[in-house]
Amino acid sequence: MNRVYLGLGTNIEPRKSHLEKALEQLKQNEAITIVKQSNRYETAPVGYTEQADFLNMVVEIKTTLSPELLLDRCQTIEKELGRERTIRFGPRTIDLDILLYNEENIKTERLTVPHPRMHERGFVLIPLAEIAPHIKIGEETIDKLLNKLPKQERDDVKVWQQ
Ligand code: ATP
Ligand code: MG
Ligand code: MG
Repeated sequence: MNRVYLGLGTNIEPRKSHLEKALEQLKQNEAITIVKQSNRYETAPVGYTEQADFLNMVVEIKTTLSPELLLDRCQTIEKELGRERTIRFGPRTIDLDILLYNEENIKTERLTVPHPRMHERGFVLIPLAEIAPHIKIGEETIDKLLNKLPKQERDDVKVWQQ
């Protein structure tokens, strides 16, 4: 059994429903069990900033799927929820990223794990630290990575409870 952390993000309404539907579809797969899920966080957009705020969360799953098959599953869910890729890092109904897959380092054409940009993203590190406070990303503890984030970026990620 493999332990995996997935990052979810959406900034097209209904955002809450997009997160719920994505989780529902993950659960429906008999090879996937959701073990833990973080709060939902509301996050100002990073990078391409001319777009609506995101809801982000992180879930821990157990799965028998290989990394590639899990990516297929995630991409199918993105498609089913109507994701269109127009602007890179632009608005999306749902984004499902594989953050960590056991302690494996994977680099193929389709997949890089640990997710290559997770180290610098408050909207990933903060929900991940909530459900996995002792986890390491490569050699680094999550606390250390969080401490390296600019304060503004940490402050931009707020628990969302609607
Ligand atoms: P970012 O990767 O910076 O979060 P994004 O999630 O918006 O940006 P996508 O359009 O969802 O990017 O994905 C682009 C490609 O990234 C996908 O086609 C996929 O093959 C690749 N990819 C590489 N590593 C991963 C990973 N760990 N999880 C999900 N997709 C990945
Ligand atoms: Mg992403
Ligand atoms: Mg993605």
